[in-house]
Amino acid sequence: MKIMKFGGTSVGKPERMRQVANLITKDDEAKIVVLSALSGTTNSLVSIGDALARGDKQGAEKIIDALQAHYYSFIKELLKKEATYKRGETIIAEHFDFLHIILKISFNEALNKDILAQGELMSTKLFSAYLEEQGIDHVLLPALDFMQIDANDEPYFDAIRVKLNRLLQQHETKKLFVTQGYICRNARGEVDNLKRGGSDYTASLIAAAVKASVCEIWTDIDGMHNNDPRIVNKTRPINQLSFDEAAELAYFGAKILHPTCIWPAQQEKVPVKLLNTMQPEAAGTTIMQDAGSVGVKAVAAKDGIIAIKIKSSRMLLAYGFLRKIFEVFEKYKTPIDMVTTSEVAVSVTIDNDQHLAEILKELDPFGIVETDKDQAIVSIVGNDIAQTPHVLSSLFNALSNIPVRMVSYGGSKHNVSVLVPAAYKTETLQLLNKGVFGLD
Ligand code: ADP
Ligand code: ASP
Ligand code: MG
Repeated sequence: MKIMKFGGTSVGKPERMRQVANLITKDDEAKIVVLSALSGTTNSLVSIGDALARGDKQGAEKIIDALQAHYYSFIKELLKKEATYKRGETIIAEHFDFLHIILKISFNEALNKDILAQGELMSTKLFSAYLEEQGIDHVLLPALDFMQIDANDEPYFDAIRVKLNRLLQQHETKKLFVTQGYICRNARGEVDNLKRGGSDYTASLIAAAVKASVCEIWTDIDGMHNNDPRIVNKTRPINQLSFDEAAELAYFGAKILHPTCIWPAQQEKVPVKLLNTMQPEAAGTTIMQDAGSVGVKAVAAKDGIIAIKIKSSRMLLAYGFLRKIFEVFEKYKTPIDMVTTSEVAVSVTIDNDQHLAEILKELDPFGIVETDKDQAIVSIVGNDIAQTPHVLSSLFNALSNIPVRMVSYGGSKHNVSVLVPAAYKTETLQLLNKGVFGLD
């Protein structure tokens, strides 16, 4: 069985949806097709929630009405037979009736998650109507019946595996399944999600749960590039990556993959392929256990980073000091990304400022605490990067005019990271493209 995940742009226009139907019927292998919401939908749903949270019901209604009009024109082009078009109309009416009803009731976080789920629910139902119109036999699997997160908002993998396989057994003779990316249930049984970009995570979790032959992530670019194509002009696709390299790139900002989506596929050694819906013949990127080649592969950047420095002469020759500091972050469930230490100071970075005030208050007794907001982590990733000649010299030569705040090297064999003020992120990525990859 193989998994094929299609992102927002891959289903964002009627002709793209038709192209998806072509791609999933090209061979006979059994498949689970994971779909995102149509491009732009989740952003609109976020804006609806934001407007309601501000008490701006009129603003929310405007966005709902514009989105509804978009869906009606979408099905006019997608569904050509009377019966399936009517079904499309019913699907849209059902979901937009819900969105209109929430305008009348009091808003809360659980309701916000229900709003965010509407995109994937609609895209899969409309795609299912199109498949029916084409006479393509398939089963629509509700992700809310098997995709689950635990009390820490982490995927509850054992439950997902058992529930999904049980559902599949109920349709033993079927070969094509369609399901929603991104959405899930939480430990309280409410509708929830795997965070923005989470459809990749859904695909990887499903791939691991059914031990798929491959997990294909179809998107709008021909694979993972060596640098962020939204920022840097000349980038090139990477043919192969190891799971570790891909995981580091995703975590450190390569938007093509959800930050933590690699581990499920890696755990079950399911190869992941990044492919282009608009250019299906392009080789794309294959991610697997051992990608063979050593050396620098790519650079990625992650914004919104906060650096915290704790300086204390009591740290000198003391043991237990770092533990006490890390315990503060643990208490507030705030992951640390980078750490550097000297004899008298330690600097750490975090990307979640939800509990920053409490963390700073608890760190205060340990020494002088300084905070630098608006930083960016820029990571250079590649197998055995530390062993690759000239990487460090070309890196530091390229960045000689950038005010580098922290450097992390040696923590993993695959990564060298620098922390720079976010205002220097674009320049840093451009300089590295030239200095490390030789691309102008
Ligand atoms: P989807 O909607 O299919 O999930 P995304 O927008 O989430 O697609 O991811 C694809 C986008 O990721 C590309 O269009 C590209 O702009 C961006 N991107 C950022 N960094 C990279 C990179 N290193 N390689 C390829 N794409 C990247
Ligand atoms: N639709 C969700 C988002 O836009 C999930 C995804 O596309 O992966 O974040
Ligand atoms: Mg995505």
